[in-house]
Amino acid sequence: AKERGRNNFQFFTSDMNLRLQQRLELENDLRKALQQNQLLLHYQPQIDLRSGAIVGSEALVRWQHPQRGLLGPDLFIPLAEQTGLISDIGRWVLHEACLQNRLWQQQGFADLAVAVNLSARQFQNLQLVEEVLAVLRDTGLAAAALELELTESLLMSDVQTAVEQMQRLSQAGIRLAIDDFGTGYSSLNHLHRFPLDRLKVDRSFVQSIAQQDSTIARSIIVLAHELGLEVIAEGIETAPQRDFLLQHRCHFGQGYLFSPPVSAADFGALLRQAVFS
Ligand code: C2E
Ligand code: CA
Ligand code: CA
Ligand code: CA
Repeated sequence: AKERGRNNFQFFTSDMNLRLQQRLELENDLRKALQQNQLLLHYQPQIDLRSGAIVGSEALVRWQHPQRGLLGPDLFIPLAEQTGLISDIGRWVLHEACLQNRLWQQQGFADLAVAVNLSARQFQNLQLVEEVLAVLRDTGLAAAALELELTESLLMSDVQTAVEQMQRLSQAGIRLAIDDFGTGYSSLNHLHRFPLDRLKVDRSFVQSIAQQDSTIARSIIVLAHELGLEVIAEGIETAPQRDFLLQHRCHFGQGYLFSPPVSAADFGALLRQAVFS
């Protein structure tokens, strides 16, 4: 038994070393990724469920890693948060998304909006409003065409500071949404204090609709309307889910039923072709 214990221990440490080494490697690679233009954005259409028209997109970051291929954000955003690289990455994402959306507007899709995810560190940066306004000036995008997605935990950790930061953004005309709504710790007491435009129903509640458990999805839609907010559902994968959401007056949605996130070129093609029925 002793023998085996020791072997297990050795196995465990070499496994840890390997993972630590991989992490350090990834961190070094990520530092270079921005300079070497390895980051890119994919865009997932946001649909007006009543008409099937594309009204906007959510920009989602990807990393074209030279050896590992196309990496999703879950593989590098947490690392970027821990190392502080998220500030530079976040600024790049914002600029790229606004520039691309402005381009599509100029190609004839004048009302198209874009949603960008903000990390905790970005949101806590007191220069955020100035940085966002500079990006809007640089790219020529109107503030009303930009929506920033924030998570509940990010808002609830320091409510007063969050309210003030959001007020500055909101007064500049930028739209604000709570992402993954219902999955984080959220005090409903404070919700009315935030200058919000939308709640985003988390995918898990949309998924539950199919399993005959629609209580949370319905409650979030009602709550949003009671608060005078728009509501958008994410992770719509089936027509019955979409129909249910529409029946309960959730008018916007995104998900694989319509399209996965796609490259800017493919999104352009979707814009020119598609109305989703
Ligand atoms: P999120 O903001 O909740 O984004 C939605 C995720 O759900 C995306 O994963 C998207 O590809 C996926 N998705 C969309 N439709 C469906 C569907 O119908 N079914 C299923 N099963 N999944 C669907 P992705 O692109 O891997 O992004 C993961 C997370 O990474 C995002 O979750 C967001 O929190 C974060 N993220 C992405 N881009 C950025 C960024 O630029 N900055 C920051 N700070 N975080 C980002
Ligand atoms: Ca999001
Ligand atoms: Ca989400
Ligand atoms: Ca999520």
